[in-house]
Amino acid sequence: MPGPVHSLNIILANPRGFCAGVTRAIDIVEKSLERFGAPVYVRHEIVHNKHVVEQLKAKGAVFVDELSDIPAGAMTIFSAHGVARTVEEEAKIRQLPVIDATCPLVTKVHSQGRRYARAGRTLVLIGHAGHAEVIGTIGQIDSPVHLVSTADDVTALPIAQDQPIAYITQTTLSVDDTRTVIAALHQRFSDVAGPDVDDICYATQNRQTAVRKLATLSDVLIVVGARNSSNSSRLREIGAELGVRSYLVDNGDDIDPAWLEGVGTVGVTAGASAPDVLVDSVITALGRLRPVTVSQLDGVREDIEFSLPSALRRPAPAIPRAAE
Ligand code: SF4
Repeated sequence: MPGPVHSLNIILANPRGFCAGVTRAIDIVEKSLERFGAPVYVRHEIVHNKHVVEQLKAKGAVFVDELSDIPAGAMTIFSAHGVARTVEEEAKIRQLPVIDATCPLVTKVHSQGRRYARAGRTLVLIGHAGHAEVIGTIGQIDSPVHLVSTADDVTALPIAQDQPIAYITQTTLSVDDTRTVIAALHQRFSDVAGPDVDDICYATQNRQTAVRKLATLSDVLIVVGARNSSNSSRLREIGAELGVRSYLVDNGDDIDPAWLEGVGTVGVTAGASAPDVLVDSVITALGRLRPVTVSQLDGVREDIEFSLPSALRRPAPAIPRAAE
């Protein structure tokens, strides 16, 4: 006879899921569709989440890899990750009407980088090669940018020890992530400048702090987010580094019942580009396997909002009435 079914304790991280930059980017696409009508063309996934992209596609957004895929005169949106200057220039040459959904915190990193370069410092970007934000940031700065992601990369930098340098960081890396690399920069170079701690992305730091707390209470950690989402992958890695079995899932369909054998408490969180509806699908899927109780950790209250670009804040032009 099967034994009694023990209930599963689900604890949700707080904060989790959408950040202000992602909310703004999605709003920009939705409001552009309302104002200009479908289709609007979005260069790159607006945020790294398939569910979000599919929902916007259904409303009339078309996602493309390059501007050359966009027809002449079509409304064009740049994704939250930012773009290189060459992309901005190509859009200008083609006279495409553009709305830029780059997160203001990413734009701030671009400005910091340009300021350091103007001051004569050699620039080091701490980030992951090939990530859309990193490609955009390198392409926003006219002088050379050296990309590093580990302390070993710092050792290999072809820069003289007494050359003044400055570092900037990919926004989806937190203070904790970059600490070792920054320490290696200070060890290797005599004159190092970098942004204030306050300048890092609040959402990345808050989600990572929350997952650390959650991991101490969980037998298994489930992170909702896309595989190409840098901040979601990092949340899973933090759980694993703290010794908790940790899985990254797109939604509830990805859950393997074997993960829960002998498990009493599951921690659930979500990356900054994962909507609540996908967290709900995970809770529902867990509830199909075992009776569940759901609670939420206390955490930092986030009330940051970024305003929309001016083109979408202005009232829509009045539609002239046809003569009666
Ligand atoms: Fe902006 Fe931070 Fe969100 Fe990235 S994670 S979109 S930098 S608020």
